[in-house]
Amino acid sequence: MAVFDHEVVIIGAGPAGMCAGMYAGRSMLNAVVLEQGLPGGELLNTEVIEDYIGFEHVLGSELAEKFAAHATKFGADIRPFTRVEKVKKVDDGTFETLLESGDIHRSPAVIITAGGTPIKLEVPGEFEYAGKGVSYCAICDGAFFKGHTIIVVGGGDAACEEADFLTRYAAKVYLVHRRNEFRASKIVQQRLFANPKIEVIWDTVIEEIAGVDGLMTHARIKHLPTNTSREMEATGIFIFVGFKPNTGVIEGHVEHDAAGYLLTDANMQTSIPGLFAAGDVRVQLTRQVTTAVGDATTAAIAVEKFLTARKNGHPAPDPVQMLVRGA
Ligand SMILES: Cc1cc2nc3c(=O)[nH]c(=O)nc-3n(C[C@H](O)[C@H](O)[C@H](O)COP(=O)(O)OP(=O)(O)OC[C@H]3O[C@@H](n4cnc5c(N)ncnc54)[C@H](O)[C@@H]3O)c2cc1C
Repeated sequence: MAVFDHEVVIIGAGPAGMCAGMYAGRSMLNAVVLEQGLPGGELLNTEVIEDYIGFEHVLGSELAEKFAAHATKFGADIRPFTRVEKVKKVDDGTFETLLESGDIHRSPAVIITAGGTPIKLEVPGEFEYAGKGVSYCAICDGAFFKGHTIIVVGGGDAACEEADFLTRYAAKVYLVHRRNEFRASKIVQQRLFANPKIEVIWDTVIEEIAGVDGLMTHARIKHLPTNTSREMEATGIFIFVGFKPNTGVIEGHVEHDAAGYLLTDANMQTSIPGLFAAGDVRVQLTRQVTTAVGDATTAAIAVEKFLTARKNGHPAPDPVQMLVRGA
């Protein structure tokens, strides 16, 4: 076991973590970015990105490489395949970040940029057709389905709102829900039922996603009360059955919303002084690359100011008073 000291530890090298690493590097901070896999985060699960300003069409993997190269050039120390197990505040007010390997990184400030994970259906074809029909993000991928017939899965606000949104592009949207009523709020449901392009398929689950030549062409769906299956033609399926923020590494209580997203003040500081959060792990109106890097910019600069105040013996502001409660 080895112990390392830094001014700031950044957990996760998705867009937010790499951007925070770049700004920390440019501020000449002794920073490290700890990543459990390869740098890129959800970019590595995204075929094409068309809404990152300045890039009309870029592969997710290509953007990830560009972020990593740019961040490294400006001083970010990105450590791939370095999984964080726990981050905890210790008695002297600093943090210990404990790795799976047993090593410990100590720092007065931590930025958590560990993102989140869309909950999967876990059906055959879901992984195979990811980015080739299967999507977890309407705002990201909706425009690829102009004039198409698509399926949306889920029954909460996200599924109903995104089904409605996707009719801007799709000719027809089947909203497949496993129950016979929605959990979505009434106003969202009203909008949904008033939309002539949406047809709700109740009491039904997805059994399989299938296609031809690597592109989705249909799904097999099962009506639960009658136990009958049939094929539904669709070139896309948008899955909104939940999203889980990766906050499990934080030891102790930190303020979060009902879904587990971290609450922060306008400087991205959480309710634990010195612990900052940026990107998908945080309460957000929308989760995009632009919002992740925006948060990360603020967080890294706020950390620099936090460390300066700490060195000069200034008290840190009470972040709980400034929490952004989110939408
Ligand atoms: C399928 C899909 C398509 C998308 N398409 C678009 C699009 O077209 N345009 C767009 O703007 N946005 C898109 N998004 C959203 C965008 O990818 C995210 O908003 C963005 O990646 C969030 O960045 P992040 O850094 O906050 O989190 P993430 O990208 O999730 O990165 C978090 C990183 O933290 C790491 N990590 C987690 N836990 C640990 C741990 N314990 N130890 C070490 N590392 C850890 C993860 O491995 C990961 O690399 C899409 C998302 C998905 C799922």
